[in-house]
Amino acid sequence: MDVTVAGAGVIGLMSAHALAHRGHTVRIVAREVGDETTSGRAAASFKPSTLPRLGPYPQLLLDSRQELDRWARSGFASAMGITEVEHIEVSDRPLEPRDYLGVMREVQHLGAREGDHLPGGYAHAVAYRTYFFDVPVTLPALTDHVNTTHAVPTERAAIERLEDLLTGSDQQVLVNATGLGARRLEADAAVIPVRGQTVLVANHEATRASVNADGYYAYPRSDGIVLGGTAEHGVWDTEPQRDTIARIIATNARILPQLRDVQPIESRAGLRPYRRGGVRLELERDGPAPIVHAYGHGGSGWTLGPGTARRVAAMVDGLGPAGSVPR
Ligand SMILES: Cc1cc2nc3c(=O)[nH]c(=O)nc-3n(C[C@H](O)[C@H](O)[C@H](O)COP(=O)(O)OP(=O)(O)OC[C@H]3O[C@@H](n4cnc5c(N)ncnc54)[C@H](O)[C@@H]3O)c2cc1C
Repeated sequence: MDVTVAGAGVIGLMSAHALAHRGHTVRIVAREVGDETTSGRAAASFKPSTLPRLGPYPQLLLDSRQELDRWARSGFASAMGITEVEHIEVSDRPLEPRDYLGVMREVQHLGAREGDHLPGGYAHAVAYRTYFFDVPVTLPALTDHVNTTHAVPTERAAIERLEDLLTGSDQQVLVNATGLGARRLEADAAVIPVRGQTVLVANHEATRASVNADGYYAYPRSDGIVLGGTAEHGVWDTEPQRDTIARIIATNARILPQLRDVQPIESRAGLRPYRRGGVRLELERDGPAPIVHAYGHGGSGWTLGPGTARRVAAMVDGLGPAGSVPR
């Protein structure tokens, strides 16, 4: 099939990778690329957050985990800067049940036993192994892999209507991976921004601990430690706020005391494409060409991206003559 993917964030790129890998002819059209996208402003760990747990969510989470395991076995994950890390979530309050612990490895509930020394003196914790996407490495590597290895061209353009992408090919399929852009392109008012701000600081002590503490987090990555986080629903502003920088550093200093006097290297804000009702992942066949919609991943696009891409590719495969698509 001739596939045009609208969007060059993690969902568009991973979908383009899966589609090209299966033998489809793919091109990408996007207004923003690389670190201009929300995907480039993410932290980003394999752990769902800021997302209604509805629609295709449970299957996407499982599919993503399986896909990441496959990428790890083949060496593709490490080539993309995706590694497995030890992660701990801590809280002063007893932790609510987490619906995603079933896909994490080596899960341990801590805090109830004497001798559990938790970071920051927190009383409750759950530790596990999960994947971490080193975004400044992963996003360029994935872009390069798609553009160079799979020879998928990326055209920079603002799309006014998805139908404008039609080329006249009777084999054409569109993939709508426009994230927050779908609010206007699909007139989907359920899509709203959830603003998130992060702060990057130097990792002088070579900290390896990846920690979440009641909504705040510290993730070591190749260029320092990325600290978060905020979640402001309905806020469109991407200017980082000075007082938020101070609050993020101060709160994380409870877990990492070396942060107390740290100078931020940079702070960035991104708009998570949150969708009331959950991720939209479906095939629409009413128009002049089939459209696979894949948007609304909120704070979980990196987590659910590999599974989403697999489902997008399966939907496109299903449109071709049986057996025509090389595996
Ligand atoms: C601070 C922060 C921390 C985060 N941490 C995590 C985390 O730890 N784990 C996790 O899983 N997720 C995390 N996320 C969420 C994750 O980044 C998003 O879910 C993900 O980036 C969404 O990807 P996307 O491809 O759907 O959208 P985007 O990355 O926004 O890409 C959308 C693409 O569509 C294009 N587009 C849109 N409209 C148009 C148009 N009209 N014309 C042309 N092109 C258009 C854009 O230019 C862009 O290329 C975080 C997000 C933020 C902001």
